[in-house]
Amino acid sequence: MCGIVAYIGPREAYPIILKGLKRLEYRGYDSSGVALLNHTGLNVYKKKGKVAELEESLVGKNLHANAGIGHTRWATHGEPSDRNAHPHQSANGKLAMIHNGIIENYAQLKTELQKKGYVFKSDTDTEVLLNFIEDIQKNNHCGLEEAVRIALKRVVGAYVIVLLDQDNPDTLIAARKGSPLVIGVGKGEHFLASDASPIIEYTKEVVYVNDYELAILKPDELILKNLGNEKITPFIQKLDLELAAIEKGGYDHFMLKEIFEQPDTIFDCLRGRLDINNASITMAGVQNNIEQMMHAKRIIMVACGTSWHAGLIAEYVFEELCRIPVEVEYASEFRYRNPVIHQGDVIIAISQSGETADTMVAIERAKEQGAFIFGVVNVVGSSIARISNAGAYTHAGPEIGVASTKAFTAQLAVLTMIALKIAKEKKTISEERYVHLLNELNNIPEKVREVLLLNEQIKKLAIKYKDSKDALYLGRGYNFPVALEGALKLKEISYIHAEGYPAAEMKHGPIALVDDQLPVVFVATKDSYHEKIISNIQEIKARKGKVIAVISQGDDAIPKMADDSMAVPEADELVAPLLSVIPLQLLAYHIGVAKGCDVDKPRNLAKSVTVE
Ligand code: GLU
Repeated sequence: MCGIVAYIGPREAYPIILKGLKRLEYRGYDSSGVALLNHTGLNVYKKKGKVAELEESLVGKNLHANAGIGHTRWATHGEPSDRNAHPHQSANGKLAMIHNGIIENYAQLKTELQKKGYVFKSDTDTEVLLNFIEDIQKNNHCGLEEAVRIALKRVVGAYVIVLLDQDNPDTLIAARKGSPLVIGVGKGEHFLASDASPIIEYTKEVVYVNDYELAILKPDELILKNLGNEKITPFIQKLDLELAAIEKGGYDHFMLKEIFEQPDTIFDCLRGRLDINNASITMAGVQNNIEQMMHAKRIIMVACGTSWHAGLIAEYVFEELCRIPVEVEYASEFRYRNPVIHQGDVIIAISQSGETADTMVAIERAKEQGAFIFGVVNVVGSSIARISNAGAYTHAGPEIGVASTKAFTAQLAVLTMIALKIAKEKKTISEERYVHLLNELNNIPEKVREVLLLNEQIKKLAIKYKDSKDALYLGRGYNFPVALEGALKLKEISYIHAEGYPAAEMKHGPIALVDDQLPVVFVATKDSYHEKIISNIQEIKARKGKVIAVISQGDDAIPKMADDSMAVPEADELVAPLLSVIPLQLLAYHIGVAKGCDVDKPRNLAKSVTVE
């Protein structure tokens, strides 16, 4: 959600910023812009729409500059438009600023500034903060750094801001609270971005800026300070990320590439942890806190979107294997509803980006109340990873497609390993079942490879069903959250209205929707509910619904009833979601493509949801 790129150094800033903005496009945005500072002064260009449209509008312009800032905006205050796009310029024209996040007390600050005669050119909260900074500079006769510090003490909300000052062309000032910011440290140059993808081409040395920190960047100097004006020693980390990992590698879309990466990403996730020969699982985050985790009276999974579905599946897994009660919470609800948290409760926070604003705040609150926070995140060094007491990375590699696929299966793999490890310690699992499940998990990457052979068949199915107006996804047990996830993928990618439901719950409402036009997707692999779900399929067929079923190979009962079936290898029901979700990812993808949708950047959606 929203992308930030900035550069200061000897090179031309514009091409670096433009390329960086394109790398951040996956985060989702509605407009873009750049501000460039050279000897003629500050030039700001911005445009509603894609970065390519901004680029086109700038052809022929003199874009020479060695310092610049660029932004992709995901509107929160004010419609997507040229004038609301960032960067914004302060009233005196000397400052340019980009911002990710929300300034919650902007209305009050705006009124104060309007009384002083400030006139606003946009509807954004960002312009309010910028003019507030300018006003402080004017009243206190201070430099920009000091003014930013004072302003931020009064600001309520979440932000990353980056400022250019016409009077100080060799300095960039940035600050963060609640939104992500990475500094790239080059030789005589510095880069800034929302994540490392715009930076890795130039340097692997990065500094993750923490909340309430201010960065003052010159070509050959990096100063970090807290809001109390005390210097902080920057912690330079080496990135373990290759450029190829963030490029499409021959696939038409990132989403398809990421679906097809799953045999490898699940393998990477298990590698070094699951040791089949010694029947053991090594996870330092769990091992070092095993007492805390196995004696938890309650585990609360906190997440949003697809990660929330991973949490729901994990609820079934943890309760069955560890015999610990589990609750699964939407982070956005949990953070506001004053939940009862006991000392010693374990919160498992699940987030691909590790920057999800709602999840971040939810766990901050829970931590204050004495909960133990365990993070399951994909992006190394991200905010949730850093605030957690312990954690396990999912190691799925950068996920660029806005609709999460490989991060979801990696989350499932990690959560299952955590549960197995706790269950083993707690002795709530028999040795035989433990070894069986380790083997089942170990075999998943190969089985996923087999599921992916369904691609061509699913492509044809997509053509058949692409004009549907609605769809129903049904499953039971471990496959119920898979049905929710399948429905979410279809909504996100193809804009077809879809609902996920427990198959048995259907008769209490959604069955009223069934007619001969409605596709009903059953997630019906062989498990302890198999006979029951067959009855549910009959109920749909009796009402002339169209049944598409994800089944286990060798099932010859369901294909006789279903209009279409997709067969995946058999697996223990506890790990079956790692297989049964994949045909649903492919179905959503191919329907989206068949309908001409922008599958990597679905409308209105953002990848890394850094606003609440
Ligand atoms: N709140 C700001 C706006 O609406 C920034 C949004 C963003 O993070 O892109 O312009």
